[in-house]
Amino acid sequence: MRKIFKAFSGFLLSAALISAIAGGCVTTPETGRTQLMLLDARTELKLGADAYRDILKKSKISQDRRLTGIVRKVGWSIARVTGRSDYKWEFNLIENKTPNAFALPGGKVGINTGILSIAKNEAGLSAVMGHEVAHAIARHGAERMSQSLLIALGGELLAQGMGQNQRQRQGIRAAYGIGSAVAFTLPFSRSNELEADYMGLLYMARAGYDPREAKRFWARFARYSREKGKNSTPEFLSTHPADANRIRQIDGMMAQALKEYERSGKLGVGEEIMGTSKKRFVEVP
Ligand SMILES: [Zn+2]
Repeated sequence: MRKIFKAFSGFLLSAALISAIAGGCVTTPETGRTQLMLLDARTELKLGADAYRDILKKSKISQDRRLTGIVRKVGWSIARVTGRSDYKWEFNLIENKTPNAFALPGGKVGINTGILSIAKNEAGLSAVMGHEVAHAIARHGAERMSQSLLIALGGELLAQGMGQNQRQRQGIRAAYGIGSAVAFTLPFSRSNELEADYMGLLYMARAGYDPREAKRFWARFARYSREKGKNSTPEFLSTHPADANRIRQIDGMMAQALKEYERSGKLGVGEEIMGTSKKRFVEVP
């Protein structure tokens, strides 16, 4: 009887697994990739909004009107070209020397003041924001959670089928991270990063910013990290290595991005952010 029950629960879980995969696939915008999606959009947006409120509560929001204005200007210009007018976009500049930036589901964007000098100008900032916004639009966070959920389901299947007793089953569950918050802490996969680079580059170009500045931004970031020394690599760079590989891949996307740029209102690199120069519409040779 026990055996039959075990087999049956195993069957139910497999059925749950198969229907989850079959019913839980969506297509990412811009790249048309099929992705596993077990998290519904409503839950995802709520998680994003909750997390954003938490972060803002713990942060010091910048009172610098000029810098906040630039962040919102660049942010909105990216938001407009994503086609997600249903998102409740928010852009906040956070007083924090650590160079970092993020975008949560639903268009909740945070920029640390520490990244502004590396962004250098509006186009550099649009490269960061385009990339981060792309993660949100392509639902990479929810995709990663879905993958973890699938692995957890697979682990549960294994626990039910293989675990001879409660202790063994617990062991298998633990090994698969069932019920753990691992999904929230892991960095994005390389393929998610590549996709965000591609989409972000198209967004910045469509918004009118010279996409070639993206390459210069990554180079500046790599230099910043080298100067800081190995032990103090900023979090953003540790999850977004600005290595030769990344730069080369961005090179491969440039022709497409430049086509978008040609069709745009062409703002060049925009206004200098940190310097004394407030030149506008600087065209890059
Ligand atoms: Zn990224």
